[in-house]
Amino acid sequence: MPNKINFETLAIHSGAAPDPTTGASSPAIHQSSSFVFKSTQHAADLFALKDSGFIYSRLTNPTVSALEEKLSAFEGGVGATCTSSGLATNLLAFSALMTPGDEFIATAKLYGGTAGQFRDTFQRSFGWKCLFTDPTKPEDFKSKITDRTRAIFIESLSNPEGVIADIEAYARMAEDAGIPLIVDNTVATPYLCRPFEYGANIVVHSTTKYLTGHGNSMGGAVVDGGSFDWMKHAAKFPSLTTECSGYRGTVFARDFKAAPFAMHNHAIGLRDMGMNQQPMNAYLTLMGMETLPLRMRQHCENAQKVAAFLAGNKAVKSVSFAGLPNSPYKPLADKYMRNGWASGLFTFDLAGGHAAGVKLVETVKLFQHLANIGDTRSLIIHPASTTHAQMNDEQKIAAGCGPGVIRISVGIETAEDLIEDLTRGLSAA
Ligand SMILES: *Cc1c(COP(=O)(O)O)cnc(C)c1O
Repeated sequence: MPNKINFETLAIHSGAAPDPTTGASSPAIHQSSSFVFKSTQHAADLFALKDSGFIYSRLTNPTVSALEEKLSAFEGGVGATCTSSGLATNLLAFSALMTPGDEFIATAKLYGGTAGQFRDTFQRSFGWKCLFTDPTKPEDFKSKITDRTRAIFIESLSNPEGVIADIEAYARMAEDAGIPLIVDNTVATPYLCRPFEYGANIVVHSTTKYLTGHGNSMGGAVVDGGSFDWMKHAAKFPSLTTECSGYRGTVFARDFKAAPFAMHNHAIGLRDMGMNQQPMNAYLTLMGMETLPLRMRQHCENAQKVAAFLAGNKAVKSVSFAGLPNSPYKPLADKYMRNGWASGLFTFDLAGGHAAGVKLVETVKLFQHLANIGDTRSLIIHPASTTHAQMNDEQKIAAGCGPGVIRISVGIETAEDLIEDLTRGLSAA
């Protein structure tokens, strides 16, 4: 492919060469668990990582590889590893970096599923400690760094409140500490923001959301930026920098210079934990990614219109959307997000509290009431009566999900129809 290529062209042509034997131009769904070896020598070389090729779909699969290549091209990385879901991706990435007793630092404004995984299961099952920190105060991160810290984890555009991270500030801090910066780029997508260009070392995704884009496939991916010098900080990352008994003396960071993290995540992570993505899901995500630029433009433009409408409606107390001119995050949106856009996901707070929230969700017709984001159709949820129902009011407010807070994921329908739907819903509330 030409060196300098624009995003829309990349979206169509990356990871998508025609099939050399059949000429098929749409990627094949290689629904095969294993692949025939050419000879015993070939098999031995594949197993020893001396030759690249396919053995067994828990490690690699041609359809999944095409998706990994496409996503890596989207992010400007050197390689990627796909998984069964976004949360499986976090497990894969951290298992490469952490040993029991190690720590990492994450922003307190995270997708709820990620926050729970970091707080409870990582600690209880693996002894990995997450220190949660105020995302608006990067200096608080600095004070929490110790000799056991192994990574900083942020969301470029947080789910659901739309907090935008000052990625460069975090990247500098991580570099000073000799640890990688991991950015969850799910909500922004690489069309709006490419964290590697601002110094991030690893990008993670839930491909379930905008990348697949049609609400029809679970998946995740970790993308290797190729920028972190593992050998320079060898003592901190033994899985990448010491001889690996499973592959006769292989040292991933030394022997696979091009994409050591991606290679490790296939050969060790997927091999030993088995959260591989299915070929059919990879195919659906490959299809979705071809139209990511078109869809994101419409998601973003619609969200701008819907947020402006809500901000001017008297039933609405406040709108938390970084695309609005008076948002505290607007300057960061202008710096880090294409066009200053803020994706299609945000929250707003209803003056009528809990009862108004329930009424709105029950009255709208185009917005579907469900627990997903990044779908072509518009989605709505009232966290206080669903995802955050177990908390008391104080805890709900601290989590940004007070009794009147509504989360919407604005789809790619006609904005005026969505506004009419919300107008009806708000007058009922
Ligand atoms: C949904 C989501 C995840 C988790 O992904 P799954 O595919 O649901 O496991 C992680 N991060 C963010 C920002 C998300 O929105």
